[in-house]
This record gives sequence, C-alpha cells and structure tokens, in this order.
Amino acid sequence: MKVFSVIGISDSGKTTTIEKIIKELIKRNYTVGTVKEIRSHDFKMDVEGTNTFTHKQAGSSLVTVRGSNETDIMHQERMSVNDILKCYSQDFVILEGVRDTSAPKIVTAHDQEGIESRFDETVFAISGRIAAEIQEYKGLPAINAMTDIEKLVDLIEEKTFDYLPDLNCKKCGLSSCKEMSFNILNNNKNRNDCITSNQKLVVKINGKELSMIPFVENIFKNTIEAVAKELKGYSQNGDIEIYIKR
Ligand code: SF4
Repeated sequence: MKVFSVIGISDSGKTTTIEKIIKELIKRNYTVGTVKEIRSHDFKMDVEGTNTFTHKQAGSSLVTVRGSNETDIMHQERMSVNDILKCYSQDFVILEGVRDTSAPKIVTAHDQEGIESRFDETVFAISGRIAAEIQEYKGLPAINAMTDIEKLVDLIEEKTFDYLPDLNCKKCGLSSCKEMSFNILNNNKNRNDCITSNQKLVVKINGKELSMIPFVENIFKNTIEAVAKELKGYSQNGDIEIYIKR
C-alpha cells in the first residue's frame, strides 16, 4: 500500500489537487483511500441531539452508525497515522494535511513563502496555485494538477513506496524513517532497506496487520517456534500458520 501526503496552507489548491489525483489514479485502475487531517480542537462529526451523540455521552468508546449506503465508525480519541492506516488496504492512500509522517509529500502553495512553510526532506513535488507560475522549486518539479494531472500522477507512481511504519527504530542505520524516505526518494536506498521489509512474523487481527518493533517480533517468533518444535509432525522447513478464533 503506497501512501503519500498532500500538504499546504488553506486555499492553496490542496483539495482540488487531491480530487484530480484520485480521479487519475482510479482511471489507471488503482484503488484509493484518503485521510483528512483537521486541526480544529472543536471538530467532531457527530452533533448534540443525535442518538449516537447520546451513546458517546453515556460512555461508549467506539460508536458506529450503519446506514443503507454508508458505515461511519467514530473513535473517541485522536489516532496515530499508523493505527488509522491499519484500516486501509487500497493501492494508494492519500493523506490530506498530514505532516507528522515520513510518507513522501506534495506541497501545494500560492507563493514561495507557502512552499517554504511546509517544505522538508520528504517533499518530492510542488503543486497547487503556484504551479501555474513556476516549473520547479529547489530542483523539484512544480506540476499544475489542473492542466497536467497525468504528469503529476506519473511522478506519484514513480516516487511513492510502501508505507514506512514510522517506528524510528534506527535498525537501518539511519536516524529516522524520514531520513529513509529522503534516501528512497533520491534513489540512495530502496524500500527493502527498512527492516520491516524483511519481517519474518505477521500478526493480524480481523485481517489487519499489527505493527511490531523487532524486539517484540523476536520474542513472538522464538516462543512460537519453541512450542511448535515440541509438536508431532514439526518440520524445520515451511511457514508456520496459527489461527486463533475468538
Ligand atoms: S528500519 Fe525502517 S522503521 Fe526503522 S528507522 Fe529505518 S526506516 Fe524506520
């Protein structure tokens, strides 16, 4: 699952750029999911007076609205991007306005000051209103999504990669996942250089994979192998699969 973020100040063309990208990715037969960041402390989907608001006020920590055409699950907390992405399985997930991630980024802006306010080492393209005026910024292409969406999505296909889990474990020898992202974007590393690519243990709950630091992965793996070795029919070769019904 490839993940990237589109960031930029208000009215810089962020949502319009995302809308164009979604349509072009779908045209290319990809599935797409999105995550929208809202910074207002007052934000809530539900409003006072609804039945679900009453559930929440009574103390329900997870409230779901099931309609004929839509199901909305409302968590009563701010979740990490890692945890949110466990709910997704699309080919591409676009984060709107999410900056605290190592995922590659497109900056939308009106002017160079707007670019600079959001610029970091994980940016691989500039878009939004300013892309009608400039062709590049600090060596990165500026692409107008209104007139050149195919070029922008070609670049997304080329640059983005499977999500780095933002563990910042430093096992790859780099100081952070952001540094890995920068190196992958500049072809100095590839996604397989992150230890999570060589993961030997996968734990899923309801089909969603749990992220695990190497230390925990080793404990899990060694314990399961030690127990399995005592069982009749155990073989050194082949994968071990365990299914727990709850
Ligand atoms: S090994 Fe992977 S998860 Fe750990 S810091 Fe490097 S890129 Fe991040």
